[in-house]
Amino acid sequence: MTVFDTIIRNANVLASEGLVQMDVALDEGRVAALVNPGAGESREVIDGSGLHLLPGAIDIHFHIRAPAFPHRGTVESETRAAAAGGITTLFEMPISKPCCNSAERVGIRRVHFAEHALIDFGLYGAPADLLPERMEAMKAAGVVALKIFTTSPPEGREDEFYGLSYPDEADQLKVLEAAGKVGLPVVVHAESAQLLAAAEQRARTLDLANPDTHPAARPAICESVAVAKLLAMNVQAGAKLHIAHVTSEKTVRVLRAFAGTSDFTAETCPHYLFRTHQDVARVGVFAKINPPVRDKSDQDALWQAIAEGIITHVTTDHAAFSYPEKLAASNDFLAAPPGSPGSEMLVPSMLHAVSEGRLSLEKASNLLSANAAARFGLLNKGRIAVGADGDLILVDLASTTEISSETLHTFARDVAHLYYGARFKGRVRRTIVRGRTVFDGSVVGAPGWGRFASPSVTPQSDKRPDRACNT
Ligand SMILES: [Zn+2]
Repeated sequence: MTVFDTIIRNANVLASEGLVQMDVALDEGRVAALVNPGAGESREVIDGSGLHLLPGAIDIHFHIRAPAFPHRGTVESETRAAAAGGITTLFEMPISKPCCNSAERVGIRRVHFAEHALIDFGLYGAPADLLPERMEAMKAAGVVALKIFTTSPPEGREDEFYGLSYPDEADQLKVLEAAGKVGLPVVVHAESAQLLAAAEQRARTLDLANPDTHPAARPAICESVAVAKLLAMNVQAGAKLHIAHVTSEKTVRVLRAFAGTSDFTAETCPHYLFRTHQDVARVGVFAKINPPVRDKSDQDALWQAIAEGIITHVTTDHAAFSYPEKLAASNDFLAAPPGSPGSEMLVPSMLHAVSEGRLSLEKASNLLSANAAARFGLLNKGRIAVGADGDLILVDLASTTEISSETLHTFARDVAHLYYGARFKGRVRRTIVRGRTVFDGSVVGAPGWGRFASPSVTPQSDKRPDRACNT
């Protein structure tokens, strides 16, 4: 009789066919079998009594920026935080110094992440000069997708955004057409550079310390117009287009209007679903995020879009800046660096939404995991089924997650003002990555366990040859 590595017993298991009362056997990092309660033998038993077993979250929008900017967190610190938050795979955005815009840089980052990550990771690339051979090389290097901004690079950060910013519509169309040909999805931060420039010029005459200045400089129409143009272009370009962090009712209307016209998807984030501009006004520049957190009517429209299946992904957009960096611009909403940590709010906040009856557990899980795996071609992830990676979380729907600088693991725990005091009904009890527990109330994973996750590259050769025998 087979002796499995691990069996998780007595949990309510969210399998592909829905909630089942089965025990889940893991072997060699994969789901080996779903067995009847009490059946099977294993070296290790994990008791899931009273808990739900879900696929681990796949967070497709994460900014560690490593190996640059270690004072904002490292691969180790931020994947520890992700593990504590129930995230088993993250997709790292290409903003770094220098920008991740070539196969060579993808390779350098891959080695760096593989040495330090506790959880699995995918990498985005920036399309740079759009030469077909360069894009093919990035695909062969295993990027999950291309990322672009329709905005201009922030002043002083040109190197970080080199090959990533396409404010010109003609260039945006070229990106979509080129990506469509190479067969890489394109993820877009969509705000109209031209409308932003005009709005920002007006906002410069306002009180820069007033939180209202931020949405005045980046009104929702910047987002909805950029998205409408991209969707119109994609009818011709035929790319796999994904709109990052949708924030507004205006944009939801655009997405709805274009439904079915091309292959596009959209995401939003917990800060847009659970917070409003009033919360930003309360805590100041620590909650400055681009695009801005908006009003209750926008929040309602985002929930409606999720209900309708117009928005099918919820992501963190985890982007830490240091406390001194935020503080230095605390009286200037235009100059303050944009971004806020989200690694440990994503799963608990969506479980909270389940507890409130906003959506089913199955739908929440799809928004966090299965839809990402399907959209970005990670066929072994995002589901609990025989043969899939053993990327799992045990969650407690009856328990609460309280957010404070003491409870968070992220390096950015002292700039999470937007969430201090939050109490989410639902708690991550255990995170398992390819069969190994990396969080069980404390972080117990080790740096170097995380593997490169790619739709086109097999995960064998992550480590440098000289480290291959050290596992
Ligand atoms: Zn982002």
